[in-house]
Amino acid sequence: MQYRTDAKTNTELSVFALGGMRIPKDFATCKQLVLEAHEAGVNYIDTAYIYPGSEEMFGKVLEETGLRGEFYIATKLPLVITKRGADFEKFFRRQLDRLKTDHIDYYLLHMLVSPEQLELLQSWGLEEWIAEKRAGGEIRRLGFSFHGRQTDFLKLLEIRSWDFVQIQYNYSDPNYQAGTAGLKKAAELGIPVMVMEPLLGGRLADSLPTEAQAVFRKANPERSLASWGFRWLYDQPEVTLCLSGVGKLEYLRDNISAANEAAVGMVTQEERAAYDEVAAILRSKTKVPCTGCAYCMPCPKGVNIPGCFSAYNARYTINYKTGMQQYTNSSGLISERFTGAGACVGCRRCERHCPQNIAIVKELAAVRKKMEPFWWRFARIAIKGYKKVTGGRKSKS
Ligand code: SF4
Ligand code: SF4
Repeated sequence: MQYRTDAKTNTELSVFALGGMRIPKDFATCKQLVLEAHEAGVNYIDTAYIYPGSEEMFGKVLEETGLRGEFYIATKLPLVITKRGADFEKFFRRQLDRLKTDHIDYYLLHMLVSPEQLELLQSWGLEEWIAEKRAGGEIRRLGFSFHGRQTDFLKLLEIRSWDFVQIQYNYSDPNYQAGTAGLKKAAELGIPVMVMEPLLGGRLADSLPTEAQAVFRKANPERSLASWGFRWLYDQPEVTLCLSGVGKLEYLRDNISAANEAAVGMVTQEERAAYDEVAAILRSKTKVPCTGCAYCMPCPKGVNIPGCFSAYNARYTINYKTGMQQYTNSSGLISERFTGAGACVGCRRCERHCPQNIAIVKELAAVRKKMEPFWWRFARIAIKGYKKVTGGRKSKS
C-alpha cells in the first residue's frame, strides 16, 4: 500500500480508502472486505448518515473485529435533512451510536454546494457546535463533500479554514464540478483532497463502452479497467486519497493492487492519449451522467431512477439489446409494481437530491420515449392482463 500525508495534521493515509456507499448488505462479506483491506494496509473508511445501513454495518464489523483503532473513520452530516441547529447534535449522536465509536476522525458537511448554504448553517450555530465537538475530542477534523459549481467550490475553500475536502474527480471530465482547478487550489491552500467517484459507480470500469475498453486493452492488455481510473488519479500529487465503494472482494483486490503501485508521475504520454480518447468516447455515448448513487431515492411513485438511467446508458454505450434487457429487468415489466420511467408524475422531489444536478424529470421523459416504445407498453399491458386472468383462475380452484 502507498501512503500520502494529510498535510494539515501530518497523518499518513492509505491512497486507497474503503467507500461505504455501495458496501455489501451481508455482514460476512462486509467483514471480509474490512479484514482484507486492513491486511493490505488500508486505514481510512468513508461512510455517511444517508448511505442505507452503511454506518451500522461498519460499526458492527469494527466492533466484532476489534479494528476500530486501525482505521480513520470519515462520515457526514446529512445536510439534505438538516432543518435546524438542533439537528447537528441529533444526527451526530446517532452516528456515534451506529458506528459504535466515541469520535469521528474526519467529519464532513455532506453535499455542501455554496457559500450561502454554509452561511445558513452558520446562522444555526454550526461553528459553535463544531468548536464544542472539537474541544471534547468527538470531531477531530472538519471538511465538506462537494457537488456544485467550480466557482462556488473556490469560494468555499477560502471562506473558512477546512481540514480537508472531498470532491468528485476522474478522467472522464477533469473540469466537472470542483475539477482540476479546484483540486489544485485546495492543494495550494494545504487542504488534503479526498477523491470520490473515481470510477463513476462502475461507469469507468466494467460499464465502459466497448470501444473505450478496446482503447485501454490495446494500450495495456493486462491492466484492469478500474486500474486505469485509479492510475490517472494517483499520478497527481494533489490527490491525497481515492475512495471507492467496493461491493465484491475481487474488486477490492484489484483496487488494492492498483494502490500498491500508486506513484506521482506514473502516467506516460501514450497513456494520456488513451485517457483522452476514452473520455471523448464517453462524452459521445453517455446519455445521462448518473452514477447510480441513489441519493434521489426512494421515489414516491416507485420509479427506479438509477435503474432507468443505467439501462438507457447501456443501450447507447453497449448495445440496444443489452439496454432493453436491462430496462425490462429494472423497470418491473413482469412484476406487480411498474418502476419504469413511465411511472414518473413529475413531482420533482428527487431532483434536489441529485449530486450530479441531473434534470431527472426531463431525462426520464427521454428514457420513456426511447425505452418504452409502443410495442413495449403493449407487452406490459398484455402481461398484466394475463397475470390477472390466470391469477383469477387460481383463486377459484
Ligand atoms: S419526479 Fe418522478 S422520479 Fe422524481 S420523485 Fe417525482 S415521480 Fe419520482
Ligand atoms: S439521478 Fe442523480 S441522485 Fe439519482 S442515482 Fe443518478 S446521480 Fe444519483
